[in-house]
Amino acid sequence: MEKIKLIMALSAIGISIIMTGCNRQNTISQEISESTIADVINAVTISCKPTETVGTPRGQSFDRIERGIRQAAAMWRAEDGSAEDFKVFVLQNTATTEEQRDSLFESLSRVVERLYESADMLTVELLKPTQLTNAGEPSQIDWIMSGYSASAHLTDDLFANKIAFITILNFPFYTLEEKNTLGQKWTRRQWAEARLGDVFTSRIPANVQAKHSQALADAENYIADYNICMDRLRTEDGKQLFPDGMLLLSHWNLRDELKANYADKRQEKQEMIYQVMQRIVRQEIPQSVINNPDPVWYPFSNKVEGADDKREADCRYQKILDVFHAMQQVDTYCPNMPTAIIRNFEGEIEIPAQEVEHLFRELLGSEQVKTVAAEISNRLGRKLRPYDIWYDGFKVRSTINEDALSRQTRQLYPTPQAYKAQIPAMLQQLGFSQSDAEDIASHIVVEPARGSGHAWPSLGRNEPTRLRTRIASDGMDYKGYNIAVHEMGHNIEEVISLYRIDYYMLHGIPNTGFTETSAFLFQNRDLQLLGYGEQKMNREAILDTFWGMYEIMGVSLVDMQIWQWLYANPKANAADLREATLKIAANVWNEYFEPVLGEKDCILLAIYSHMINSPMYLPNYPVGHIVQFALEEALADKKGSEWAESYERWYRLGCLTPNEWMRQAVNSRLSVQPILNRVAEQENKE
Ligand SMILES: [Zn+2]
Repeated sequence: MEKIKLIMALSAIGISIIMTGCNRQNTISQEISESTIADVINAVTISCKPTETVGTPRGQSFDRIERGIRQAAAMWRAEDGSAEDFKVFVLQNTATTEEQRDSLFESLSRVVERLYESADMLTVELLKPTQLTNAGEPSQIDWIMSGYSASAHLTDDLFANKIAFITILNFPFYTLEEKNTLGQKWTRRQWAEARLGDVFTSRIPANVQAKHSQALADAENYIADYNICMDRLRTEDGKQLFPDGMLLLSHWNLRDELKANYADKRQEKQEMIYQVMQRIVRQEIPQSVINNPDPVWYPFSNKVEGADDKREADCRYQKILDVFHAMQQVDTYCPNMPTAIIRNFEGEIEIPAQEVEHLFRELLGSEQVKTVAAEISNRLGRKLRPYDIWYDGFKVRSTINEDALSRQTRQLYPTPQAYKAQIPAMLQQLGFSQSDAEDIASHIVVEPARGSGHAWPSLGRNEPTRLRTRIASDGMDYKGYNIAVHEMGHNIEEVISLYRIDYYMLHGIPNTGFTETSAFLFQNRDLQLLGYGEQKMNREAILDTFWGMYEIMGVSLVDMQIWQWLYANPKANAADLREATLKIAANVWNEYFEPVLGEKDCILLAIYSHMINSPMYLPNYPVGHIVQFALEEALADKKGSEWAESYERWYRLGCLTPNEWMRQAVNSRLSVQPILNRVAEQENKE
């Protein structure tokens, strides 16, 4: 399920920060005065003789020249030179003819590709011992080097040698709104120039960056070590429900164990896990029972035996606050994207927060939720409980016996090389021509992973994309095969959106949801690739995805509202944040979940660990499903080569904004209507 997404450090670590320069930032003094800027703009326009006044990334327009100068001025610091130095620099480095600009564009694109690619190749090499099983046992040195970043100082270096300023001057940044509106008329080259303008949009001091990374790393360590010893839990009458030695990480393992208990209808186990989750969210959980196999804990009465019962002191909320405070420091350097919320939605996901929220609320409040809930209640033979947001009874898997499938996959795929050899045939199954299939496969290498597997993208056209998969000594079992096909879906997207694209600056996809969509398009056809008939999403799979979206959209709304609350209450302490989170979770619950699952003021939606170490990342999941359904709908009547042609055309669009990508791919905006329609259709097919 994992695509290793490299955060390349030409932009800041994990954050896109935008400074367009018109607005002065209060706490950083701008080195270049307004009168110098006016003076420089005047001098440059005389030498460039612009012919257009309307803004496009291309063409010697007034708008672009002024934009570039203002954005460069906003980034200029005392260490870069005096105001006079700035003026001379701008006059010497602004391309005055289209030919000069073309050649600058070519050079900068080539440099960016080589820098990204080389840093990535070095990282791949250094990580091999810790990631692959065929590179020897990792030494202490390998572990140390696995945390090394080859590009950590790149941004500083490129500002120091003025490459960043030359880029900003000639290829300035355009806002999301401008990309979505002006961009509808841009050529591919104009889009590529606009993406070049996204490369140097931040210049955060190293100490601020370090604090930000540290806060996220601390939050990550906190959640990575938050285990519950399930064998030490007791019901009020002293019963142990979970097997000896069972250790579950919050929230992932707790949720998955809860899901697993639908198969054997062990509702008392589910009630116990639900109780544990509520204790965690409310921070009533005794500190002594976290990651500690000694004390016995009664989650219902919250009694502890063998240790003291002092509650965990709002650590959960303190971690979120620490991340927030680090983000506030970063805000100082982002006059035009001055909050983490704006940077996340307009900079990373590239869909405004209000639009995301609107999409989610439309599905959450739909009639379809009620009908699917009624069906689940019917299948369970009982009234629904809050934890049924994780109902896992839809029969998504095929009816073909899994052992038989594993026998087949073990025989077909004894080694990574055997899998690699079959990729062209699999692509041909889906309608790619023999030559396309062979060409795409030639850019993919298959390697044996230590973990469950992942896809590692290539960042330049001298490098292959990597499919890492786990194969046991007796071959690849069906579960491993299913994951490998998902990861291969990432690899194929990566090859098409890099090797088959017209401009390097447009390589890739709009946001992380779009590559997950590609992974699922392939994973949902895993049996077809084994030679069984054509596979479409069946009724159970549609209902399962819908119910999953309902859950994760609720969770995402809570995550988003916590951050809105933080910005509205910047002086809050951890206890304030705890109370606010409980209130937010209860409100979302009461509005969209209580009507079908009961239990007023339930706070279950606040359990996700992502909220602590990856603020506002959760909305990416449902956005991915929204895209997936739109594409599946467009593929519904495609046969043979039409399927492959549509797929290839879509993923050659590259990293447009999500809305522009959808417009060019399927002539629609992001919408929850396709999934709502398909769920409504299912009601008659029961
Ligand atoms: Zn994935």
